[in-house]
Amino acid sequence: MGTHTFGPEYGFATRAVHTGNDIDQDSGAIKRPITMANSYALPYDPSAMNWSASEENIYTRNGGANQRYLQEKLAVLEGGEDCVVLASGVAALSGLFFALLKQGDHVVFSSVTYIAAYRLLNELFNNKFGVETTLVDTTDPRNVEAAIRPNTRLIHIETPGNPTLMVSDIRAIADIAHRNGALLSVDNTFASPFNQRPIELGADFSVESLTKYINGHGDAMGGAIVGKTEYLDQIRAQSQVNLGATISPFNAWLIMRGSVTLPLRMRQHNENALTVARWLERQPGVSFVAYPGLESDPGHAVAKTQMAPGFGGVLSFGLRADHDTHNAFVSHLKVITSAVSLGHDESLIVFLGEDDERQYLFPERFHNGFFRFSVGIEDAEDIIADLRQALEAVGLAEPGKD
Ligand SMILES: *Cc1c(COP(=O)(O)O)cnc(C)c1O
Repeated sequence: MGTHTFGPEYGFATRAVHTGNDIDQDSGAIKRPITMANSYALPYDPSAMNWSASEENIYTRNGGANQRYLQEKLAVLEGGEDCVVLASGVAALSGLFFALLKQGDHVVFSSVTYIAAYRLLNELFNNKFGVETTLVDTTDPRNVEAAIRPNTRLIHIETPGNPTLMVSDIRAIADIAHRNGALLSVDNTFASPFNQRPIELGADFSVESLTKYINGHGDAMGGAIVGKTEYLDQIRAQSQVNLGATISPFNAWLIMRGSVTLPLRMRQHNENALTVARWLERQPGVSFVAYPGLESDPGHAVAKTQMAPGFGGVLSFGLRADHDTHNAFVSHLKVITSAVSLGHDESLIVFLGEDDERQYLFPERFHNGFFRFSVGIEDAEDIIADLRQALEAVGLAEPGKD
């Protein structure tokens, strides 16, 4: 290993293991240590230093060793030039928007996104900072094209989208962005770079909540923006050093460790989610299943062109039942935990009721309440048996029938 770098000439799994790691020069350890210091020794005459620089060791808010190791790995896994890692996925989203946008700019964004992206672009940036924003159903690129204005600076999409799993065509939307002098950012959290690499498909930025699949163990938060150095230097200066959403070295180290097994975990998530989605689709008590890996899914055709080898571990489904029966179903689950978040090792389910403020933006089949289900890496048979006994317990399946 030594000082060898593990770049794009290596396979994904080799990069997930080796990139960003090296022999520690001090101890000879074959895993780099955690550097928890806040501050670093200054040169003899520090007076001419740029106190906002990120590339030198000055102060950990400006950047630290464990953050840089993780950035090196994620840039290479996403196929981008450079990466900034921040304290959470939302810090990455707001950091990207804060650095790129100014008063009078226009943004087009997916109508179905993570709630904080919706808040940032539908309420905060427009109302507080005078950024014009237009929310469109980006599953049809023609809606994006129609929303473009002369001052459109950014298109932001999420695919598959949280929580409806709606799929948008990254290549087609990148083309629209670039023909109109705009930039495209893609929230890649649901797919992870194992299944989808937006930059290779033409996007300018890939944004990830590292809290989800990349860490994978449900015990550390982080976020990443991958893209061209030119923009990422701005993001580092404006959104890290001056907004201060720096990741802790310990969390960067945990995520670095978790990310080693990303390819193994994603293979299992992909396989389990497809198996569970197909099983759910056959249950008479289930009203619908949204998963881009299903042939029946409206996003399947586009997903096949941009997601490989699989479609991720998250699906949504509803029951042919009332509000309280959805809650009763969850109360009977033993293997699957009722909790928010996704992309953890364990299966997580959350009931999203009928009163979500974004419901008017969701397809109609989502209007009677539904579950977002992050299928874990347990044995698929145990996940299915758990779902089956809970369906039986609320009278939505007959005992012993598949
Ligand atoms: C969870 C999530 C985020 C936010 O990430 P945090 O790490 O919780 O801040 C952003 N986008 C998507 C799609 C997510 O699922």
